[in-house]
Amino acid sequence: MAITIDSHLEFTEQTQALDPFPGYSGFRHIRTFCKDENTIYLVVVADENAINVIFQFHATADMNFLSGYGLFCAYPNLTFNNKSYTNPSAADSSGNGYNLKMLAKKLKRRGLEHRTRFVEHSQWETHVCGTEKNCPTTLRSMYDEAALFVPFESVRTKSWSPTMYDGKNGVVWSLGGPPCNGRGLYTDLINMTVPVYHAEVEGHIS
Ligand SMILES: [Zn+2]
Repeated sequence: MAITIDSHLEFTEQTQALDPFPGYSGFRHIRTFCKDENTIYLVVVADENAINVIFQFHATADMNFLSGYGLFCAYPNLTFNNKSYTNPSAADSSGNGYNLKMLAKKLKRRGLEHRTRFVEHSQWETHVCGTEKNCPTTLRSMYDEAALFVPFESVRTKSWSPTMYDGKNGVVWSLGGPPCNGRGLYTDLINMTVPVYHAEVEGHIS
């Protein structure tokens, strides 16, 4: 199999599918495609929709997925400005064998300005936790204005709200972690599948 980009750039599959990363759940396998020095890792998930697993990734820059409905990016304001930060739950899960310094180096090599904490990005030094959409403690919805979804032409509907999940449900999430000013309670990761109506309402009021 190959992945073709812009009808001429062909990435060919190099190896057999790899096993999922240790410590992750919901992943089926990883396929590797190469063209010269560039590599595409295709992470295949077992669930119907990859949004249920992207919040396990170590960096916001990786919190994107492609499905049969379209392309989704959870933190486009960061990602499209080449910025990223460490997922608080990944930073706090010791013993998973993942070296967060290696993560920062890897993302820097790829041209990203990666920080251990969101608040270390100078433009967000002062922000309101729980309200600022890029803050890890803010409750987000896949339907809110800070997320990006590009539906495929073939599944576009007349509705203002395209199918992102399965037509019936949506997902709300918060990466959690300590408050950015260091004062207050630690919150856990929230990743909930809710009826699409509730996801839309959450997206509009938050
Ligand atoms: Zn914050």
